[in-house]
Amino acid sequence: MNETWLPLCSSIHDAQSILLISHIFPDGDTCGSALALRRALLSLGKDVACCCEHSVPDIYTMLDGADTIVHPDALAGRAFDLAISIDVADEGRMGSGCAALFAAARRTAQIDHHGTNPCYADTNVIRSPLSATGVLVTELLDALEVPFDRKIAECLYVAVATDTGNFKQANADAAAFSVAARCIGCGFDIAAISRRVFDLKPVCQVKLFGAALSSLQTSHGGEVATAVVSREDFERCGAKPEHTEGIVNIVFNMEQVKIAALLVEKGEGVKVSLRSVAPYDVAEVSRQFGGGGHAMAAGCTMQTDLEEARRAIAAACEAIL
Ligand code: AMP
Ligand code: MN
Ligand code: MN
Repeated sequence: MNETWLPLCSSIHDAQSILLISHIFPDGDTCGSALALRRALLSLGKDVACCCEHSVPDIYTMLDGADTIVHPDALAGRAFDLAISIDVADEGRMGSGCAALFAAARRTAQIDHHGTNPCYADTNVIRSPLSATGVLVTELLDALEVPFDRKIAECLYVAVATDTGNFKQANADAAAFSVAARCIGCGFDIAAISRRVFDLKPVCQVKLFGAALSSLQTSHGGEVATAVVSREDFERCGAKPEHTEGIVNIVFNMEQVKIAALLVEKGEGVKVSLRSVAPYDVAEVSRQFGGGGHAMAAGCTMQTDLEEARRAIAAACEAIL
């Protein structure tokens, strides 16, 4: 076995009850990777629970076991033999309920691909740069000698497809495609999954896109573009926080734009999503505001008013151009 996986495999073999933790405002990678691993661990006879601070977005509820991902309150007071966080860049990204369960576990581990990860678990499998945590989970399943089935394949495909922008971003490398090829070989309906995850949208989401795009501002000769979504926009459109998915890419895909930011009033503060073209490093920008992420896709949460946050982010982006 590749020695990367020895400590985690032995922790898994030694554990009976295992908790899998996804990050707040879950995406396809944290959901798909956790659910693929859940199914693998169940096949090994483990007692597996999955938790997340926020509910699984509708576009991922078709994944096997998505209905078993619970809020940490439903597991409060339980001490698991092993807790594994998946695609969680730092402990703050677990949310307080999941962080308490993580701290109460007898052993902790994590699987992640964020370069800013501070290695907060007993066992840390972190590889960066890497397209998706789903690539690491694929390796882990091989190390555990769990065969792929159609449902595992569907979860891992969604994990890798979503974190690579449906295989169109610079991080869509050979490893990402080889995971996809293996998954497709298991025979799931790629057209149906792709349409559900990337194309189909409820009316309220399309209205929210309209609200966000009408807030568009550019600066630095059109190279920095920002858009905002307020609490009021969510209410007026009848949309949910997960419905902001995709907006930052529309802003980013405008001609001239080198750095795009979407700022959303979500939960406790303003959630910022940043995207850049090489060589501009937006993780450097997000770190200035206590966040993290990857060089070309990063984020942070700010505790200021929406327009004030927009000004600060735009200024920080202009500064690195
Ligand atoms: P998003 O814009 O939410 O799609 O996030 C882009 C990337 O930045 C993802 O890889 C996230 O894991 C990372 N990221 C987003 N927000 C934060 C944060 N507050 N702290 C650390 N990393 C973040
Ligand atoms: Mn993620
Ligand atoms: Mn990821």
